[in-house]
Amino acid sequence: MDASINPFENALKQLENAQKTEPIDEDIYQLLRHPQRIIELSIPVKMDSGELKFFTGYRVQYNDAPGPTKGGIRYHPHVTLDEVMALAAWMTWKCSVAGLPYGGAKGGVICNPKEMSEGEIERLSRGYARALANCIGPEVDIPAPDVYTNPQIMAWMSDEYNKAVGKELPATFTGKPIENGGSEGRGISTGVGGTFIVREVAKKLGLKAEETSVAVQGYGNAGSIVAQKLDEMGYKIVAVSDSKGGIYSEHGFDPHKILSCKSEVGTVGECGHIGVLAEGGDFQKITNEELLELDVDILIPAALENQITVENADKIKAKAVVELANGPTTPAADEILFEKGIIVVPDILANAGGVSVSYYEWYQNMNDAHWTEEEVFEKLDTLLTKAFADVSEKSDNNKTDMRTAAFILAVHKVAEKVKERGY
Ligand code: NAD
Repeated sequence: MDASINPFENALKQLENAQKTEPIDEDIYQLLRHPQRIIELSIPVKMDSGELKFFTGYRVQYNDAPGPTKGGIRYHPHVTLDEVMALAAWMTWKCSVAGLPYGGAKGGVICNPKEMSEGEIERLSRGYARALANCIGPEVDIPAPDVYTNPQIMAWMSDEYNKAVGKELPATFTGKPIENGGSEGRGISTGVGGTFIVREVAKKLGLKAEETSVAVQGYGNAGSIVAQKLDEMGYKIVAVSDSKGGIYSEHGFDPHKILSCKSEVGTVGECGHIGVLAEGGDFQKITNEELLELDVDILIPAALENQITVENADKIKAKAVVELANGPTTPAADEILFEKGIIVVPDILANAGGVSVSYYEWYQNMNDAHWTEEEVFEKLDTLLTKAFADVSEKSDNNKTDMRTAAFILAVHKVAEKVKERGY
């Protein structure tokens, strides 16, 4: 990630592009450039060594005009307030594009979970939930997992929150384990949602699954699931990577075997040799930068922000970029990709599967219901297929890129809510 690029400035630039194309009322536009509420926390954690350490955490509630705010919590050493503000803004537009009754929020803690014990992570997570307990709730703000947080962390937070408020309110957190009120399918929903989007973009490009090659950057929750599910649908996964590097083979890989190899050896970059090639043949080790520039049909960034920038945008050869990560393409790179005729399905649409199934989880908790995985993904398919069609139509009609089209649709809906409420 290019740390010199401020993700919140990117988010504001994207909003500005939408405003230039199809403006909303100037005062509401200015209001939407500002996060509504920023919370900074100092979380005391007793480390295993006995030392007391203080971790800085954030929660940004960007705009609650459409409903309670919603967004994940990220644990990463490079978390910054600007990043959390950007992610919270994107959540606002994402919920709007998907038609969910939510505003946007995001949380983050500056920490390196890879260097912490399970007990330290639990104490940190409980400390974060305790410190935020007055500011979240099923009808206020509903957190969920993001990078390096998971259902277990949501279960600890939910338990701590319930203790703090003296009530059982499972709908306060989504992405919980099933036995703690989680939804079927939530754990894989961002990746599964990504497959519906890939299917729709392949259709738009006139490509059949069997003739479509795909490269995936990032092999975590989003990346590994989209790779495995696309493989099951007949797409050819020719390249994958994680933070330590990647592998490429024109013959394609078996993404399921890559996942079990990664859990054995620690990185997909070392997995070419353990029989993961789909049809034999050769493979080569590649860097993350090289993966982005491969001659593939569909490129899926599924790691962190600012991966496609002015430095490499003119070297991208994919026909379409499906952004499962949040903010992987900078606004300047967007312009270059648009000029090259590359379709970019923006994050606020492409990775909306996660928050949509979070909404289903919240809805089931609020109504004491339990849907099957089949029901969940049927609903998700309908929701994302419609959202894709709306954005695609807007982009064709306005002759603009899909991000600007998605922003226009989202921002106009939020602006309407702001106006109705008279903020
Ligand atoms: P994760 O922690 O499960 O996985 C992250 C992956 O990215 C890991 O494989 C890691 O090795 C890799 N990575 C980290 N730095 C990298 C780098 N510099 N280059 C290449 N790979 C790198 O996280 P996740 O939940 O899969 O999230 C990935 C992206 O998807 C994030 O941008 C996140 O905001 C977005 N997203 C996730 C969800 C979700 O439900 N999980 C929903 C919406 C958006």
